[in-house]
Amino acid sequence: MRTKTLRKNKINVITLGCSKNLYDSEVLMGQLKANEIEAEHESTKDDANIVVINTCGFIDNAKEESIETILRFAQAKEDGLVEKVFVTGCLSERYKPDLEKEIPNVDEYFGTRDLPRLLKVLGADYKHELVGERLLTTPSHYAYFKISEGCDRPCSFCAIPLMRGKHVSTPIEELVDSAKKLAAKGVKELMLIAQDSTYYGIDLYGKRRLADLLTELCKVEGIEWIRLHYAFPAGFPEDVLDVMANEPKICKYLDMPLQHIADPVLKSMRRGTTKEKTDRLLNLLKERVPGIALRTTLIVGYPGETEEDFQVLLDWVKETRFDRLGVFTYSHEENTHAFALEDDVPEAEKQRRAELVMEVQQEISLQKNQELIGRTLKVLIDRVEGDNFVGRTEYDSVEVDNEVLIPAKDNYLRIGDFVNVEVTDAEHFDLHGKFVS
Ligand code: SF4
Repeated sequence: MRTKTLRKNKINVITLGCSKNLYDSEVLMGQLKANEIEAEHESTKDDANIVVINTCGFIDNAKEESIETILRFAQAKEDGLVEKVFVTGCLSERYKPDLEKEIPNVDEYFGTRDLPRLLKVLGADYKHELVGERLLTTPSHYAYFKISEGCDRPCSFCAIPLMRGKHVSTPIEELVDSAKKLAAKGVKELMLIAQDSTYYGIDLYGKRRLADLLTELCKVEGIEWIRLHYAFPAGFPEDVLDVMANEPKICKYLDMPLQHIADPVLKSMRRGTTKEKTDRLLNLLKERVPGIALRTTLIVGYPGETEEDFQVLLDWVKETRFDRLGVFTYSHEENTHAFALEDDVPEAEKQRRAELVMEVQQEISLQKNQELIGRTLKVLIDRVEGDNFVGRTEYDSVEVDNEVLIPAKDNYLRIGDFVNVEVTDAEHFDLHGKFVS
């Protein structure tokens, strides 16, 4: 058995799944750093003696990826390449007893609310005074900004409340304080995330206070863009629209997963809304926040989704012309309300429906991008890739939306800078541009 000289107490943190999981890994690493324990995020150096895997347990593909990662590091431990493997996050929260039986070579499994206990076995003490502080894994000019944890919604297909618990808002003062600390570190863009950002405040203040939170965050010097993700359609707080319309720092962008539009499916999904109400809300958003870019996410192949339901969805995607859209195939998740239904849409048919939706969307995206040719847009430079600087407009979130490519030759731009770019060409999901100022 080949052994390696491992760096004493160096921890390699692996994150799977969504931006909320990444946020949690950053908090863990911030705590470890404050305890003078060396930690690295997804280190490729393979010199860490301890590995912490922050897993995702959302849907089939994500669960498979998490299990494969656990098995890979359990094998590495077997081979003497690492000394200890710890697993945390959603998959561990949801399937701990099964995982302990199936993959016993892991030192310990932790849930999503076990940070102090996890820190203990890593030789660290949980430092309450560090609340909100973390070690960023994103480029230093933007940061994910989690405003609440958990979810109180009853969506039939969703296992997240099983893994993340009830909705808990973080107090406005704590969030403003965190934003100030991030701005002091050079963060210019806050990506507001939650399971349901529009529910913010109900648990803590007895009413929705997302608009108040946004207004306070806009006062933080150094923060230039604030981007809203994971809005929920039912009970949408309209006062947020005034803040979005009047505050230049709030990106004219809204991510609102709608999941479906056919009324029978929305009813079975327990989404608490209808096609008529959803369309009314979308029109209100466009009316009250002119130029807003709308992102949504849809699920196809939900139990009982008929060809007719799907056609209603497809026609609606054609009519509504979302700026950004993603689609998932339904995943039959134990202990969710929908698990009692028959998963009657064959996998191949689910895939066919997803492809049809994206075929329609990519044409819409191309047409909308072509309409931008000749316009000058404010772009935040994220990185250099090959011959290009790569950036985003205020209409694009990281990793999921369009990007702007600016030739690196003859341009000296800095990562993290805002620049003005004239759009010279367009592709389905990217823009090409030239630096103006
Ligand atoms: S809003 Fe619905 S889909 Fe989103 S996390 Fe909550 S239960 Fe899941």
